[in-house]
Amino acid sequence: MRAVTYVKNDTVEIWDKPVPEIAPDEVLLKVGGAGLCHSDIAIINFGDDNPLIGSTLGHEVAGTVERIGADVSGWAEGDAALVALVLSCGQCRECLAGRDNQCEVVSPRGSLAPLSPGIGSPGGMADYIAVKAHHLDPIGDLDPVDAAPLADAALTPMHAINTVRDRLDADATVVTIGLGGLGHMALQILAATTGARIIALDTDDEKLAFAREHGADLALKSDGEAAARILEETRGVGADVVFDFVGVQPTVDLALAVVRVGGAIRFVGLGGGSFEYVANSGALPWGVNIERAYGGTRSDLRQAVALARQGKIGVEVVRYSLDDAVQAFDDLHHGKIQGRAVLVP
Ligand SMILES: [Zn+2]
Ligand SMILES: [Zn+2]
Repeated sequence: MRAVTYVKNDTVEIWDKPVPEIAPDEVLLKVGGAGLCHSDIAIINFGDDNPLIGSTLGHEVAGTVERIGADVSGWAEGDAALVALVLSCGQCRECLAGRDNQCEVVSPRGSLAPLSPGIGSPGGMADYIAVKAHHLDPIGDLDPVDAAPLADAALTPMHAINTVRDRLDADATVVTIGLGGLGHMALQILAATTGARIIALDTDDEKLAFAREHGADLALKSDGEAAARILEETRGVGADVVFDFVGVQPTVDLALAVVRVGGAIRFVGLGGGSFEYVANSGALPWGVNIERAYGGTRSDLRQAVALARQGKIGVEVVRYSLDDAVQAFDDLHHGKIQGRAVLVP
């Protein structure tokens, strides 16, 4: 079968690999779509001696059940399914408490990322993937091409939003920075599930136009004027919640500049920005709650799938044939994707 493989720094190739054998607790999924994420670009830039070299990429995977392991029940051939992002154990303290996105078995302290398809386990940018049955969720009549990006591009913002949901009442202002793969889903989830006033920011005019059509109350260019404008829009008080789906220095600075006293910031994007905490300075307002949000739980995923099935959120999909994976990586790297690129085998 074809498999998009990380072969050396900054390089992917389509290799021919055997169709995986399945264990008794696994199913073989015929991949219908595999989303391409900025973290895939980050992964292939970890150097020439990275342990992931040789592995098949792809952590946003949906498809149809092709073959079923001897011990698996509840799935039938042809069922459409989405693969969970975090391949959690299901048994540890964190999993049992519903925090399976930080499963202590597959996400040890100091690890780069929890075990996921395409990150330590063979990914879904291939014709087939073997998956433990308990890592699959049904998607009903959603097209696997549209559903695949839900596994991260909708899951991750859903999780970040759920961590601050009690703050997002109708009198609140939320700022969401970055309207790419995750950000365009965050905007739709905020619009569909909260009453808060939404201020969306990006540097790209087309993405701002998308935001105006999909629930943003105000769509602003993310530039040097943005912080002053947001403060003006909030009577100088600032925003209740800020989501940063970019994480470059200007967006980290912006998040800190506009969060209100007692507000919350969720840093999601991995753009390499930083901030210094100075204990006796007012740079960070009193009471601000900051979380470095990762992925989401199975419950968050169920909610994202439910919203998509109700037609309340939808991924802007840019389709590429699996054979054109190298081109898709290049286009994403150069900022040419509006929404989410999905590889279709
Ligand atoms: Zn991702
Ligand atoms: Zn666990």
